[in-house]
Amino acid sequence: MVKKVAYGSVRRFGARYGRRTRLRFGQIESEQRKLHKCPYCLADKVKRQALGIWECQRCKKVFTGKAYTINKKLKFDTSSADTAPEEKVINEDFSDEEEQDADEEAQKG
Ligand SMILES: [Zn+2]
Repeated sequence: MVKKVAYGSVRRFGARYGRRTRLRFGQIESEQRKLHKCPYCLADKVKRQALGIWECQRCKKVFTGKAYTINKKLKFDTSSADTAPEEKVINEDFSDEEEQDADEEAQKG
């Protein structure tokens, strides 16, 4: 089955520029167009005015942020990409417990 691209804003490009480029651009654009959380009044009313300039529609504060989002780093969803490396989950809690046990034994001895 053909996967449908979820980002409607890139439909204006038609078939141009390549599938992955359009997908990435759509992810960025949907992030920059959505309403963000205001760091002052905590309302989801912050809109992007220009590159790096954000305005809260509730408390009318204008402040700087990242270019396409307020503060968090954008992560591309590469799960659909064939070349995406698989992430291995390492249980760090387990290894920490082992180290603590070893330390306690050392103190006893
Ligand atoms: Zn606000």
